[in-house]
Amino acid sequence: MTDFAPTARTTIRRRPDRGSYDRDLVHAIIDEALLCHVSIIVGREPLVIPTSITRIAEDVYIHGSNKNRLITSIEDGARASIAVTHTDGVVVGRSGFGCSLEYRSVVIFGRASLVPAEDKERVMNAVLQDIIPGYGGRRLKPSELAATRIVRFPLEEVSAKVRNHGVLDVEEDYQRDIWGGVIPLSLVAGEPVSDDRIRPGVDIPDYARSYRR
Ligand SMILES: Cc1cc2nc3c(=O)[nH]c(=O)nc-3n(C[C@H](O)[C@H](O)[C@H](O)COP(=O)(O)OP(=O)(O)OC[C@H]3O[C@@H](n4cnc5c(N)ncnc54)[C@H](O)[C@@H]3O)c2cc1C
Repeated sequence: MTDFAPTARTTIRRRPDRGSYDRDLVHAIIDEALLCHVSIIVGREPLVIPTSITRIAEDVYIHGSNKNRLITSIEDGARASIAVTHTDGVVVGRSGFGCSLEYRSVVIFGRASLVPAEDKERVMNAVLQDIIPGYGGRRLKPSELAATRIVRFPLEEVSAKVRNHGVLDVEEDYQRDIWGGVIPLSLVAGEPVSDDRIRPGVDIPDYARSYRR
């Protein structure tokens, strides 16, 4: 597929060398993310809410309870902006001016549409597999699906930005005896902790033992 076409909204002005409209890069950044930040205008007030995000093909999905203010506000076609962010490292410069973060991020603009009842189970299963690959819990009940709202945003107006080039100090500072470099950051899964009410004989499944992002 072709890359995203920049629009007036998604044209990267500051450090355009770090910007990208590469579809595969955008997909990869979204797919690695557990969460995003969705921003909308409610009444006349800006609202930003962190929540989980899942991509299926050229759409992203946000879900919540029927009473979720974010979802009920955007399901009627309100405009929203979604940010997905990974912090990959702390850049330590030889001066504060050279300190930064290594990152990969995506910004999405769009209007949401409500996912119809007949598609909810498929999308929720994809959401669960996205967050917990290999997940093997019981099937969602119709009442649980009825209590859940899912909205879909088409991936159309999208930009990515990546900082991955390490230290960029002021030229004269390279002559100073001051350490500079990158401290890598990553999301690491710990040992699974079983719920107190696990029935005897139920082992921790492989998908939990080997969970990694
Ligand atoms: C973890 C992290 C930390 C950052 N820290 C700083 C900081 O401390 N100071 C700072 O100035 N900047 C920081 N940035 C970069 C910041 O996100 C903006 O790109 C930058 O501030 C330029 O903002 P602007 O409003 O001038 O963007 P513009 O270039 O005017 O934005 C225009 C369009 O470009 C796109 N765009 C802009 N930024 C991004 C992005 N990050 N990802 C995807 N698309 C984007 C959007 O579509 C946006 O509508 C950080 C980014 C990340 C991910």
